[in-house]
Amino acid sequence: MFAEVLLEVSIRKPLDYVVPPELISKIAPGCWVEVPLRNRLSRGYVVQLKEHSKVDSPLPLTRLLSDGPIITEDLFQLALFMARYYATPIEKVLRSMLPSGVRKSVSLKRQYLVSRAKTRAELSAVYQELQGKAPQQAKLVEILLTAKGGVLLSELLEEAGAQASSVKALEEKGIVTLSLVRTGESLLVGESYFRTAPKPLRPEQEKALSTICSSLEEGSFTVTLLHGVTGSGKTEVYMQAMQAALAQGKGVLMLVPEIALTTQTIQRLKSRFEQPVAVLHHRLSDGERHEAWNDIRKGVRRIVIGARSAIFSPIPKLGLIIIDEEHEHSYKQTDDTPTYHARDIGIMRGKLCNAAVVLGSATPALESYQNALSGKYKLVTLKERSESAKLPTVHIWDMRPEFAKAKGITLFSDCLLHKIDERMRRGEQTLLFLNRRGFHTTTTCMQCHTVLKCPHCDVTLTFHKSENILSCHLCGYDLAPPKVCPVCKTASMICYRGIGTEKVEAALHVIFPEVRTLRADADTTRHKGALERILHAFRTGKADVMVGTQMMAKGLHFPEVTLVGVLNSDASLNIPDFRAQETVFQLITQVAGRAGRGISPGEVVLQTCLPDHPTIQTASKQDYEAYFAEEIALRRMFGFPPFSHMVKFVFSGPVLEEVQAAAGAWNQAFIAQLPSQFTCHPPLPCGHPKLKDHWRYQLLIRGPSVMGITSIAETLDKKIKLPPSVHRFCDVDPMSTFF
Ligand code: ADP
Ligand code: ZN
Repeated sequence: MFAEVLLEVSIRKPLDYVVPPELISKIAPGCWVEVPLRNRLSRGYVVQLKEHSKVDSPLPLTRLLSDGPIITEDLFQLALFMARYYATPIEKVLRSMLPSGVRKSVSLKRQYLVSRAKTRAELSAVYQELQGKAPQQAKLVEILLTAKGGVLLSELLEEAGAQASSVKALEEKGIVTLSLVRTGESLLVGESYFRTAPKPLRPEQEKALSTICSSLEEGSFTVTLLHGVTGSGKTEVYMQAMQAALAQGKGVLMLVPEIALTTQTIQRLKSRFEQPVAVLHHRLSDGERHEAWNDIRKGVRRIVIGARSAIFSPIPKLGLIIIDEEHEHSYKQTDDTPTYHARDIGIMRGKLCNAAVVLGSATPALESYQNALSGKYKLVTLKERSESAKLPTVHIWDMRPEFAKAKGITLFSDCLLHKIDERMRRGEQTLLFLNRRGFHTTTTCMQCHTVLKCPHCDVTLTFHKSENILSCHLCGYDLAPPKVCPVCKTASMICYRGIGTEKVEAALHVIFPEVRTLRADADTTRHKGALERILHAFRTGKADVMVGTQMMAKGLHFPEVTLVGVLNSDASLNIPDFRAQETVFQLITQVAGRAGRGISPGEVVLQTCLPDHPTIQTASKQDYEAYFAEEIALRRMFGFPPFSHMVKFVFSGPVLEEVQAAAGAWNQAFIAQLPSQFTCHPPLPCGHPKLKDHWRYQLLIRGPSVMGITSIAETLDKKIKLPPSVHRFCDVDPMSTFF
């Protein structure tokens, strides 16, 4: 028997290998195998098995690396589709599909857990006794005395600075016990949940559920767009649809934009279902991920929740795919090829395995809503919030008079300050949003007007007061704030301007000396678990006000928040990007959705200098239909998605002239070859024209199909020789034309 194997290394076509007799009964298409290649060993994926090979004396494959197929048939079909659509070699696609732990067959390490074998009182006595006599053992006992449960052996040894022999001695004396655990296992072994029953649905939720269930029963591919305002009970509908799918013996997959902001949803799933839920965290180690992958593949866990790449989970009999907050940009992979969008891939996967696909959002992407209106998707709408919660009242606050009064930029309008004060008196909470982190966002010399920029990127440096550094938000470069201007050498003329979240927090303390604040942005949440800690502190009432960047807008549920302030709601409206308005609308709606989720009604204050802007107006009324009508007309007029497909080619390299020339050559070649329905925009510097010492130019092409563009690109790759230092990157269906 022969196996056709697609290798991990770049060879575009599969190679034939002989299957050794002892592996014939175990091997199947989809298995992950080790094979010889040019005197070395390589890994690959069995595409098919066959009785004959056209190759002269193929080599035998050396090892089977997986017990059974590693990915499902539909996933392999999906990989082939992605390779074509995203113009990416198949082995690169498989690499992003298969977690590295699976590819490298990393097994989960097993570790020892050390637990107390005696009561705390008895241990205290032991501790007294050991002190002086056996200091290492005493230290170990001391740590175990203060630990909540058991401690991992490796951690215990590290903390005590002790040898394993000391632990062994304690074990022999019956003071501690050692047991084997998997590192991935939460130490909250036996974590138990209240089982919650499905809630009786409101009529509009009932309609949504029956729409999804009817496609589940038919077992045919459908896409349902669930358009429901925040808090309208979409998650409840998802859970009941999952129940129906599980009852039919099908697997379910739920995608969320960011797993760390989804702890509440995960808790809800875990307490609803008896079945174990696979949560695909980005923090899983290689071994843990490999194990989760195996559990899913073998059907041990049939409910899977995770972020973008979870769309590739090898769920057998996948029947329901839910993509929550489908409009979120984090579903798009933008920094590496394939530049896939998990929503689009989810729909493709649904098609391949006849699954019901549900897209949920309060602010659907224009593309999705257009597809729903045209009848490609089914549309169900949830207009009301559940329980007593009502949609918040939104005030648009014109900042121009405030700026005139203050003779400059002010952070807070009197209106907002008054309302924050009110909340503090009533013991309610406030959320404040600003889209910039740091303290000041520009640093200028007053003498020569030099603006301090990153030496590696074309961007101003942001001042961070707590760390006392200037830092580049693109590449992470930082330096101590200079005492003299680096250009004109004048002393003490450095002036800071522009406002970030750190400054907002500081200003609040000046205005309200007694205020308790928390700040959640990329700076305060850099460390593992920090975001969870901040959210928990806020939820348990440890602060009156939380200041955050837009990362905080997503899906959080804080019943005590009755006021949301957006300090500069128009900040992103003027970015020259075709999605600028869409992004602002989504952001304001999501942010506003954080207010009034409990018993007390909520209020939102949108501070802006563009109070009459249609996006601000429609967002303040949470009027998606009006916003959609306005925006879709513009997209139609300019022929932007959803009325065309776009492909963005980015050329980058250390020498500006080379980069410009490359973009120019491609532009010329495209103009010569593109059919007339396609438009090639002239090459332009990217939104960030210089990044990490590399200049960047983009070429944007629009037309009726992606493949019409990428197929030409493939020929150009062979025809136009780029200088070795120029890199070409291809972003299919880009989220932004600006970055
Ligand atoms: P969304 O996902 O649309 O933001 P959720 O499903 O989180 O909305 O629902 C918001 C709140 O309303 C939750 O506390 C949820 O338990 C509750 N809820 C949802 N549906 C119902 C219902 N039919 N009856 C009572 N409460 C409900
Ligand atoms: Zn930089």
